[in-house]
Amino acid sequence: MARDPKYDILFEPIQLGPKTMKNRFYQIPHCNGFGSEKPLSQAYFRAMKAEGGYGACCTEYCSISPESDDTHRVSARLWDDEDVKNLSVMCEMLHEHGALAAAELWYGGPHAPCMESRSVPRGPSQIPSDFEYLTYAKEMDKDDIREVQQLYVDAAIRAREAGFDIVYVYGSHSYLPQQFLTPYYNKRTDEYGGSFENRARFWRETIEQVREAVGDDTAIAVRMSCDMFMGDAGTQLERDCLPFVELCDEIVDVWDINVSGISEWGEDATPSRFYPSGRLLPWQEAVKKVAKKPVLGVGRFTSPDLMVDAINSGKLDIIATCRPSISDPFLPKKIDEGRLDDIRECIGCNICISRWEIGGPPVICTQNATAGEEYRRGWHPEKFDTAENADNDVLVVGAGPAGMECAMILGKRGMRRVHLVEVADDMGGIMRWIPQLPGLGEWARVVNYRKIQIDKLRNVEFIPGTTLDANGVKEYGAEIVVIATGGYWVGDGLNGCTHDTIPGADASQPWCLTPEQIMRDGKDVPGARVVVIDNDGYFMGVSLAEKLASEGKKVTLMTHLGHIAPYMHFTLEAPNQHRKLHKLGVDIVTSHMPSRIEQGAVVATHVFDEDGHEQTWEADAVVLVTQRRSNEALYRELKDSVGFDTLRGEGITACYRIGDCEAPRLIADCVFSGHRLAREIDSENPEVPKPFIRERRVIERELAAV
Ligand code: SF4
Repeated sequence: MARDPKYDILFEPIQLGPKTMKNRFYQIPHCNGFGSEKPLSQAYFRAMKAEGGYGACCTEYCSISPESDDTHRVSARLWDDEDVKNLSVMCEMLHEHGALAAAELWYGGPHAPCMESRSVPRGPSQIPSDFEYLTYAKEMDKDDIREVQQLYVDAAIRAREAGFDIVYVYGSHSYLPQQFLTPYYNKRTDEYGGSFENRARFWRETIEQVREAVGDDTAIAVRMSCDMFMGDAGTQLERDCLPFVELCDEIVDVWDINVSGISEWGEDATPSRFYPSGRLLPWQEAVKKVAKKPVLGVGRFTSPDLMVDAINSGKLDIIATCRPSISDPFLPKKIDEGRLDDIRECIGCNICISRWEIGGPPVICTQNATAGEEYRRGWHPEKFDTAENADNDVLVVGAGPAGMECAMILGKRGMRRVHLVEVADDMGGIMRWIPQLPGLGEWARVVNYRKIQIDKLRNVEFIPGTTLDANGVKEYGAEIVVIATGGYWVGDGLNGCTHDTIPGADASQPWCLTPEQIMRDGKDVPGARVVVIDNDGYFMGVSLAEKLASEGKKVTLMTHLGHIAPYMHFTLEAPNQHRKLHKLGVDIVTSHMPSRIEQGAVVATHVFDEDGHEQTWEADAVVLVTQRRSNEALYRELKDSVGFDTLRGEGITACYRIGDCEAPRLIADCVFSGHRLAREIDSENPEVPKPFIRERRVIERELAAV
């Protein structure tokens, strides 16, 4: 199909100083866990987006010196010539697809814990980081200022050598240049502190020096946060940012505008739970009004209509995307080719970000199982080889996230016929009711995308409202069987804290409930006082507490953990979730584990109280978010009762299980599980994942010094 002319503006070239970007799609700097140390994973990951039509792709934050070392997290680095070599692969691959390459030069100041380099970072004032524990900077004197500016210059020269077309003097997320600009970090009384002119001096001088160093064939980008949401102490749009744009517009080629500091950067990388797409547009528009240079910015844009509107209404010149480009690296091409219903829209869950926040692991994505697997597993999000055993029928039992993904990919791999059988009357499994939790509506995209794709595949048939037992599977007639029957929340209080059930917990009682009973089955939550017991640590417990409190219940949220929903710190959802629960009056009880539940009460002890003093919470209803278990009855019946040998005798050559049916886990991991099996359905042993390429140094013994 041809492109709809109303989207033409997205494909108009634009000038960024000396460089021409071929269209308005820009992959903003974002982390992937590869840095400069896994150069091929880095290059293949970014190049996939260039192949998908992006006009420019950036590194993640790229450290300019061992003084700015973010270990335990993974950044790119331009510390020496070997980093230049490694990152040049990325630049070359981007150029092969006609995309520009950008390096985001980063100096973290007090936010850089330097756990690998053991260097001492420098900062405008000796204030400890508000993001890391126990991390201080050395207060910079004038010599330090010149030396750090030289670090930027040296790194910019290296970036140019590596082949980068655009270099950033990165400030936002409260890194060094913006620390100078912001009273919260800058307590100086010399010519680098105090007035706006003084606070802006370091950043302006650095931009000038970098510009001078890279000559006139490299574009200069500045990424700036326009509001840190901390009142006068933080950066302010009117007081600091707009004057800074006016001050530096002449020496900057493109402005990259966002909001927030690093300690609450979920205000920038907004979870869909709290913010819709385009949340940053008011700040971007304000900058656009004063800047003569192009303005770009993120906003979790997945809709081409919203993108066009942002440009036509004078809010942005360039559509920057981070998460939508992870979820679908081919977003621009699909818009260009008029294939809007093939766009795999980001759901705003921030599971991708959680990996960076945790530290080392590579990026993953709920929607795109191939994210991060481009090099190490050789997976392409849009290309699928015909399976060597494509002359087989496959029966997939269960149409949750894993089953849908598996059936879809098997269909794309050309299996003769894929039968996706589901007990319920529609696809989705748990993703039919999870999106009904407060704020999670966009998560329904997990189902919608796959449903549309499956509908298009003529070799995939969806069979709803059908329950199969082992006999039914045996007689179905498919050669390959995949069991994807999901999991369930236990009703007896079995949990990861005591590894035991909770005495008295019994979801067959009207006053004791599991998440599915509330959300899927519509079981009534009796009375006014509810205790939600959360031993899970992610979104389920807090979401149910929010839902029930919003409905007028007096809710107590109890967890054995030190914080409620600690995984939501990694997804950047925690601060606003805390605010929400606080506002709703939810009583939060941490470090407590129920010792027993009775009708009308939950009795619990503090996990560190060796004497086991008990406290009682009155409760008309108790919600058990304690742990999940695999729904593996059918698989066990097939394996243990019927036996795989018998199945082989009946013409079933293989039987696998995927997703929560194997072990309950993140939705992203369920999707991956289904995808992985389908990608490797013709491997020697599809049950066991094929080894992936590990980028690492391998030492021959004779080269070792001792
Ligand atoms: Fe979007 Fe979630 Fe994928 Fe991140 S993990 S890109 S937020 S769908």
